Amino acid sequence: MFGQLALSHTVWSCSSLTIARSSKYAGLVGSCARIHSGWRRGLAHVASAEGVFVAEKIAGAHAPEIHYDAIPACTYCHPEIASVGLTEEKARAQNIPIRVGRMPFRALAKATAAGDPNGFVKVIWHEHTGELIGAHLIGPAVTDLIAELTLAKTTEVNAESLIHTIHAHPTFAEAIKEATEDALGHAIHL
Ligand SMILES: Cc1cc2nc3c(=O)[nH]c(=O)nc-3n(C[C@H](O)[C@H](O)[C@H](O)COP(=O)(O)OP(=O)(O)OC[C@H]3O[C@@H](n4cnc5c(N)ncnc54)[C@H](O)[C@@H]3O)c2cc1C
Repeated sequence: MFGQLALSHTVWSCSSLTIARSSKYAGLVGSCARIHSGWRRGLAHVASAEGVFVAEKIAGAHAPEIHYDAIPACTYCHPEIASVGLTEEKARAQNIPIRVGRMPFRALAKATAAGDPNGFVKVIWHEHTGELIGAHLIGPAVTDLIAELTLAKTTEVNAESLIHTIHAHPTFAEAIKEATEDALGHAIHL
């Protein structure tokens, strides 16, 4: 009924999407879109984004493409785990020139004050363009911290602009700035 939709790298027919007009069946949209995009990990935020994408397409509104390479993945255990983008291993396997930086939470004032100094932030930036290739975090509040790095992966925020963004002290978010400074070779607190 609605012709074809461009989703990620796939253009797919969505003749069955008339159901999306009914709020009763709106939940189906996420599953429907994901199957056709090739994305295989079931995550609520991906299903939500796909649902909005498809609904906007149906409504004829502007629908920015979903960045499947910038999906945050979180594990809500203790310590928390979060990541976005490529691992260092995968980046090197693809011959991407990278700079890697780390910041252990034990060197961070907020983590010490919170009595939760275990874990680290690891960031992987493109050596030449400064774009974020990937980030991997374990420790306090990292399932929230990953939002800053997902923003960097999705937008033009790069290593330089991130370290010139003033981060409040003491906060867990300072670990991202410190790790990025480490990647660029001028960490202050390590
Ligand atoms: C226990 C559990 C915990 C989870 N925790 C997380 C988490 O912490 N974070 C996270 O990101 N993801 C989590 N997920 C995954 C997440 O819930 C799913 O990826 C997401 O809900 C998928 O959304 P969806 O719209 O594609 O499908 P669904 O949410 O499954 O929605 C599909 C809807 O379609 C309806 N439906 C199915 N068949 C028909 C039919 N024939 N006719 C009419 N209606 C139909 C269903 O009743 C349902 O309402 C969890 C999943 C489970 C099961």
